Amino acid sequence: AGLDEADEAVRGTCEDASVCKRFAVSVGYWKDPYIQYFVRQAKERKAPEINRGYYARVHGVSYLLKAFLKKTECNCQIVNLGAGMDTLFWRLKDENLLPRKYFEVDFPMIVARKIHNIKSKPPLSKPIMESHSGESLLIDSHSLDSSRYSIIGGDLRFSSDLEEKLKKHNLDIQLPTLLITECVLVYMTPQQSANLLKWAASTFPVAMFINYEQVNMTDRFGQIMIENLQRRQCNLAGVEVCKSLDSQRERLLLNGWETAHAIDMMKVYSFLPQADVKRIEGLEFLDEKELFEQLMQHYCICWASKDSSNLGLASITF
Ligand code: SAM
Repeated sequence: AGLDEADEAVRGTCEDASVCKRFAVSVGYWKDPYIQYFVRQAKERKAPEINRGYYARVHGVSYLLKAFLKKTECNCQIVNLGAGMDTLFWRLKDENLLPRKYFEVDFPMIVARKIHNIKSKPPLSKPIMESHSGESLLIDSHSLDSSRYSIIGGDLRFSSDLEEKLKKHNLDIQLPTLLITECVLVYMTPQQSANLLKWAASTFPVAMFINYEQVNMTDRFGQIMIENLQRRQCNLAGVEVCKSLDSQRERLLLNGWETAHAIDMMKVYSFLPQADVKRIEGLEFLDEKELFEQLMQHYCICWASKDSSNLGLASITF
């Protein structure tokens, strides 16, 4: 596939992620009253393995994120890179856990769609207005800037551009900053993701990075996953970093992060509170235990920190 086609396929993954999340929400895995405003309901049911996997993904990321919010007492920023149609801003507001400012970055085309949804749906626009104070809110087709929430159209493969745009939206590099990439880095070359990680580590003196993506891709099951994605013309330029938990950790440590962890999603699943496990396992019958375990062993959460003001970010773990 040509470069534009490949980018187009990558943008399509954003739709996929949200459709799957919306489906799992509709079955009752977790609550998200906002996702319905961003994507259609799935045409067919998603397999229970997929729904459980998404539950662990959303829970896992949110667990680490809340630990960060606690350590910083919400006196921080969150930068969600490749955020797609993520609804985190609205969910954090409902829980009274908004950071000082929440930023999102994605391709301009995705951002335009998100802003269109926000503009046309009051349940999305109202919370932004409510949390806004001061001068008038900036909103055009490719970016939105309010006091607590900002969306930026850009390409994560060009980090100097990115910094400039974020700064225009009042990014404060001195604030403790959490950066998130959920299923994003695999679409960039190892060099490009290394540059992004290096940029983040060298820009923010106090920061945490959370990355969710594929791992153990060199075995048979991993190869099948890759073939499936390639069949949809997705450019998995970064898949070589997804070979092991070690290579995931190493990438973080080699690019300026002080501490780094990586665990597979089966491990994350084993850390879920027993009551949650009981509840979600009761939602749908899962026949293929082995398939579920295989799937979960092929995704991971990685997190890293650097902490010059000793907030205790290094001790964040499951
Ligand atoms: N993080 C969201 C989630 O987990 O629900 C969306 C995940 S989706 C699989 C990947 C997202 O990353 C897409 O929205 C895509 O447009 C974005 N993305 C990938 N490469 C990008 C790049 N180079 N610049 C900006 N956005 C990018």
